[in-house]
Amino acid sequence: MILDGKMVAQEERKKLCTLITSYQEMGLRAPKLAIVLVGHNPASETYVSNKMKACHEVGIEVDKLAFEEDITEQELLNVIHQLNTDSSVDGFIVQLPLPEHIRESMVLTEIDYRKDVDGLTPMSMGRSIQGLRAIPSATPAGIRTLLEYYHIQTAGKHVVVIGRSNIVGKPMAIMLMQRPYLSLPSMSASTLGDATVTVCHSKTDHLEAICRTADIIIVAAGCPGLVKANMVQPGATVIDVGINRIEDPSTPRGYRLVGDVDFEHVAPIAGAISPVPGGVGPMTIVSLLKNVVVVYGGKLLGAKVGEE
Ligand code: NDP
Repeated sequence: MILDGKMVAQEERKKLCTLITSYQEMGLRAPKLAIVLVGHNPASETYVSNKMKACHEVGIEVDKLAFEEDITEQELLNVIHQLNTDSSVDGFIVQLPLPEHIRESMVLTEIDYRKDVDGLTPMSMGRSIQGLRAIPSATPAGIRTLLEYYHIQTAGKHVVVIGRSNIVGKPMAIMLMQRPYLSLPSMSASTLGDATVTVCHSKTDHLEAICRTADIIIVAAGCPGLVKANMVQPGATVIDVGINRIEDPSTPRGYRLVGDVDFEHVAPIAGAISPVPGGVGPMTIVSLLKNVVVVYGGKLLGAKVGEE
């Protein structure tokens, strides 16, 4: 079974569009996202334009705040502080990576977690770990939606997460090991969780053998072809988060995108597998949109994030 993130994301966007239209029919303003972009990293520019397009499609207003590479850390922090207090902005994100002279950790720490629609601030992640109401990290939340859509259960299953980044690996592992009712109280009902999770990284010994014991493998390593057929037990679910550019002179752009899984050889063995492109990528974007709408809707209902 191919886990078709493009199709699921399209369905999720339709639902969001209907919801936002209904708000507007009640005379309410549209939800609003702001995106902060520093410099001209081509991949970041593409990600931002895809996010803006998706916002427009569902009726979320979006502002891009673009700055040159030489913006100072303090100037960027001033922008963050302004966005924290701008009541017309429901949520905002800072597109990563940032130039080397700006400390990413400093910037993320300064974002008000109640507007942190990427779910990446230390407060959002700390609150998620403790089972408090928090905005979930977009990529793990997208993977959760994909698994739910295809009725793939995680309770009691052995999930191997390859990668321990703050963006994907760690929050994914936490989300899957939580008791389902603790994972995201009041934000969205989820049946996922209760998994036995093993987190692997570049220093893990016997990666192949560990993966062979997995019911579900989620790989976010940035290593093309890392997960090979001999690492997957028959019928396992394989979620490929990786996005890697491989040179390919036969394509108009001169490169193509591949994931971290040797798709050609793993697909015949796996019970379910997500492709790249068209798997986790579109789910990440739709999760961001959902997070914006949840924060906006929470304001309307008087149930803001952070007020238990
Ligand atoms: P990071 O580089 O921050 O983390 C990569 C992780 O993978 C690290 O923990 C690293 O281990 C581990 N790793 C690297 N090589 C190996 C290996 N050979 N064996 C086992 N573990 C390994 O990356 P991100 O988490 O930010 O992203 C991972 C991938 O996912 C990238 O390709 C990125 O483009 C993609 N991505 C896709 C998204 C989507 O929406 N589809 C969203 C976010 C990311 P160690 O900690 O020891 O260095």
